[in-house]
Order: sequence, then C-alpha cells, then structure tokens
Amino acid sequence: MAIATVNPATGETLREFAALDDAEIDRCIDQAHQTFLDLRATTFATRAGWLRAAADILDDDADDIARMMTTEMGKTLVSARAEVHKCAKAARFYAEHAESFLADVPADPAAVSASAAYTRWQPLGPVLAVMPWNFPLWQVMRFAAPALMAGNVGLLKHASNVPQCALAIEEVFREAGFPEGCFQTLLIGGERVKKIVEDPRVAAATLTGSDGAGRSIATAAGAQLKKTVLELGGSDPFVVLPSADLDKAAQVAVTARVQNAGQSCIAAKRFIVHEKIAPEFEKRFVQGMRALKIGDPQDDATDIGPLASKQVLEDVEKQVRGAREQGANLACGGRRVDRPGFFFEPTIIAENRQGSEIIQSEVFGPVVVVCRFSTEEEVLQKANNVIYGLAASVWTKDIFKAMRASSALQFGTVWINDHLPITSEMPHGGYKQSGIGKDMSIYSFEEYTQIKHVLVELTGEARKPWHYTIFGDA
Ligand code: NAP
Repeated sequence: MAIATVNPATGETLREFAALDDAEIDRCIDQAHQTFLDLRATTFATRAGWLRAAADILDDDADDIARMMTTEMGKTLVSARAEVHKCAKAARFYAEHAESFLADVPADPAAVSASAAYTRWQPLGPVLAVMPWNFPLWQVMRFAAPALMAGNVGLLKHASNVPQCALAIEEVFREAGFPEGCFQTLLIGGERVKKIVEDPRVAAATLTGSDGAGRSIATAAGAQLKKTVLELGGSDPFVVLPSADLDKAAQVAVTARVQNAGQSCIAAKRFIVHEKIAPEFEKRFVQGMRALKIGDPQDDATDIGPLASKQVLEDVEKQVRGAREQGANLACGGRRVDRPGFFFEPTIIAENRQGSEIIQSEVFGPVVVVCRFSTEEEVLQKANNVIYGLAASVWTKDIFKAMRASSALQFGTVWINDHLPITSEMPHGGYKQSGIGKDMSIYSFEEYTQIKHVLVELTGEARKPWHYTIFGDA
C-alpha cells in the first residue's frame, strides 16, 4: 500500500512518501534500544514534565493538527479538534497518575517469611505500535502516554494513509523534550511489520486494527514469546428494552452509529429493539439519519464527511449490496453519494436473521442494522452471538434488568443508557476476537511493564536501611 496523503473529500493525492529502507529501519530500532537504556533511568517527574509539555503543544496547535487530520482521513474538523484536546487530556492523566499507579507494592514480611518483599513494575523496552487511521492521534496517544510514562520507548508504524499525522505526533513528542529515539515514526507498509516484531531489540508489540492484522502480529510475536496488546474490531449491539427513554435512545442511536462517519470500533452497529417499541424507534431513527448533513468535513456545519479511503468506501458498498442480495430490507440510504470523494449515504438495513453476513461482520461506515426481539433471553443471545465482543449498550429505566444484562453481555465495555464514552480512567479492550489486553487506566500499565518480585532476606543491623526504604520505619 502506498504511503500517501489522499484527501478523502476529493479523492486527490496530495503528497506521497518514500518508505524507509531496511538500513533506516535498523538504525531506528538501534536508536530505540540505546535510548531505552537511558530513559529507564529517568524519574517519573522528568517523564511527566515531557508528557505535560506534549499536552500543552497539542492544545496550542489543535487547529493546525486537526486540519491535517481532516485532510488526511476525512473526519470532520469539529471532531478532529475534539480528538486533539482529548489526547492532551489523556497525556495529563498519565503524567499525573503514573507514579502512584506504578509504585512498589510491599508484601507483609510475615506472610512471605522474609525481611521484606515487594513487587515492582519495570519497563519492557522498545515497543512497536501498529495503529489505524480512524482516530489517527487518539489511538497513538492511548498507547504512547502509558508506555512512555512506564519508561518504555515507542516505535510507531501508523496506517499508510495518515503519514502526516504520524510524523506530527513524533514531532510533538520531540518538541516536548523527550530525548531523540524515545518516540520514532517508521513510514513503512504493514508487510514490513513482521520482521520488526522478530527483532530481538524490540520487546513487545501492540496493534489496533482489524482482526486479520491482529492475527498476523500475534503469530509473529507469539513465535518470539513477546507480549502483545491487540485492540481489534467490533460489531457492537445497542439493545433497546421496552422501558427505555425512547427520545434519548433514538437520538443517541444516530451519533452512536455515525460518529466519525461510522468508522469507529465502538460505534453501535447492530440495533436490537423490543418488538413493542421497534416501529416507533425505527421511525425516529430513519428521521434522524435522513436529517444528517453530508458534506465538506472542513465545514463546521457538516455531520458526516467522507469515508477515509476508496477501499473503505468500496468495502461498505459491497457489504450493503451483499445484505440486499441476501434479502435484507433497506429503510434509507444504501448508495455512495454522487460527488467526488468517498461519501456514502447514512443507511439503515432491517435484518432479523442472526446468521446473515451483515450481522456477523463489522461494517466500518454509516450503516445501521436493526433487528427485533421479544424476550430477554432472545436479546442476550442475539447480542452475544457474534465473533466480536468490544462494547455494548443497554437502554432501559429498569436498573435490575440493566444490571443483569451488563453481567450477561460478553463485551469489554457495557454502557447503560449511553453509548461511546471512553475515558482514560476506565479500561478499554475486547472479549473474543475483539482483542487481547487493555488500553487505558491503570490496567494499560500491566501491558507495558514487567512485574518483578523482589524478596529481601537480611538480619540485624543490615536489615534496617532496607526496611526503612520500603516501610518508612526501622
Ligand atoms: P487494518 O487494515 O488492520 O490496519 C491497521 C494497521 O495495521 C495499519 O497500520 C496497517 O498498515 C497495519 N496492518 C495491516 N495489515 C497488517 C499485517 N498483516 N501485518 C502487520 N500490520 C498490518 O485496520 P484499519 O482498516 O486501518 O482499521 C480499522 C479496524 O481497526 C476496524 O476493524 C476497527 O474496528 C479496528 N479498530 C479497533 C479499535 C479498538 O480499540 N479495538 C480502535 C480503532 C480501530 P497499512 O495501513 O500499511 O496497511
């Protein structure tokens, strides 16, 4: 795949980039390895200072960075700006909390029959991050902030259609003061990743993307017994029970599906609605989708911009065509928009057959699939019976039903009467083929550290300084 900026709103190729050759990749990995040896000796306070400076740069330069994101992958300027500020907020969160999250944890000396014992979190080394284009800044920050705060260094292989975003992030970290080699962007295609994962200087890998790419990186890392974090696709259900606040559910349903033109892993993709309220819910949903303004993503009045690439447009078009050929009904939309660029109409498809392809696969565009249910058992079965398990929402005023559903749903996130909120405080990651491991919150540190057990056996006077260091008394 060519490494290039193609404006999805026009289809025009704006800039092409040469991929790094093998010798350049080797130099980058070597620099990462050498830098890690120094970085792991720096204090949390030093790293937090650099990360806070990165947050300030992001906030200050949000407009320019957002405009570049919009030009490269077509998200609306409004959402691009919000993404930049969200990254700044996440950076500050890790800068503030990493030291306490990663503090040594002392054990009870009596329980371990020793003078002292504790667990310590230590960095892994250079971590390769393979990232997708859909949230070109946020996906990277979600990995980079905890990984760098833990004392690792980052090698970013970003998606081939967002090279300028990839280079901009590297520049933000450099300008913020992180030493050369702490965070490097490698402009390369996906086919070059395996060799980097196999390199003994690279300690671990993380990939956010499709399950196919996840499988390939997991295979390469598994063969080398290296840690991986995989944040993969989803086919997330939005379950509406009869007691739901229909106004709110129908309103959030639209945003939950079309945010980022529907190109979000946690977008609601299957709307499973109780048969009693389904006709009214569907009527409102169709109205909401039809009211969306499709247009230039640089225009603040636009709700839906283009899809990110010709390939994404063709994939969505093919999936919708396939669903119709298999007998699904179209309630609205269904076609590409007749204008230059990669635009697709907001679309609603009614499909009740659980085995159909449009239900079982992930559609990465503004395409809703609605189906109906009549019993609690049926809705849980329908919601769970897909290969993915990223996130789900349940809409009801009955808190007992909601709590029962939140336990029974096999998804990494369950929202009650909401859909989409993701914050640094809470973990994110999927069940089943939606991935392995967690991003964000204290749990992300488990992915980018080794947990070491240290046991100290000393007696008499020699014991005192150790005891003092760990427990604060002699
Ligand atoms: P993708 O095609 O899998 O690409 C993601 C990244 O992987 C890109 O950098 C790509 O490089 C690279 N890549 C592709 N094939 C590879 C391979 N065989 N070996 C190594 N690297 C490979 O996914 P996408 O279309 O960009 O992103 C959409 C997918 O990401 C959706 O499934 C979405 O649900 C998922 N996603 C998940 C989360 C989450 O948190 N769970 C978040 C965002 C997105 P090239 O660009 O060079 O091909």
